[in-house]
Amino acid sequence: MPSKPLWKKLLAPYLVVMTALVAGVMLIASRAFVLHNRMDIPSEDETQERMEARIARAIAHRNAELGDWRYIVIHHSATPTGNAAKFDAYHRDKKKWSGGLAYHFVIGNGTDSGDGQIEPGPRWEAQGAGAHCGNNYYNSHGIGICIVGNVEETRPTAQQIRSVTEICRQLCIACKIPPESVIGHCEVPDAHTKCPGKNLNMESFRTELARALANGNGRESASK
Ligand SMILES: [Zn+2]
Repeated sequence: MPSKPLWKKLLAPYLVVMTALVAGVMLIASRAFVLHNRMDIPSEDETQERMEARIARAIAHRNAELGDWRYIVIHHSATPTGNAAKFDAYHRDKKKWSGGLAYHFVIGNGTDSGDGQIEPGPRWEAQGAGAHCGNNYYNSHGIGICIVGNVEETRPTAQQIRSVTEICRQLCIACKIPPESVIGHCEVPDAHTKCPGKNLNMESFRTELARALANGNGRESASK
């Protein structure tokens, strides 16, 4: 019987070491990924400081300079559950929108993503136009934010309200958008929809947002 070639004999111990090293690196990387993801899921006792940092990270998650944004358009998903990946698949595969996820951000309700977790989508990463409100001007200049849930039937969670107020506050500052230009989908000219649903009163939302902006943080609105 021919014995193993010399190179195999010499290499065998190194192969074992290499395999162990690769496995180790992969394990550490996956742990880091989970940890990183967890940082974006708000805990129940999340401090104001952590929330602000978490939301600043979501806004910083882009590959291009900030676009020419003049509005923020708030939506609800009109579904009880969901997350960015699920809506992305729906918009890509069912609606055949090659740009995928129509919104720039999705705010989870604790079903398919964290409660109050903010997921930036590929259109935000690329600073590209949205496809969320059936109006070219508002799609090109409006940042689309989707609150997961059917807000006609249920209320957004407290964490969702906290997150949506803070992301709007930070986006208003970053993009120089006045709180009056933060609107519900139903307020887009010629829109025929109840979106974002009757349980999110946009007038009161703008009042809270203006207050948070005047305070320089979201503490006032978050404490209510
Ligand atoms: Zn909508």
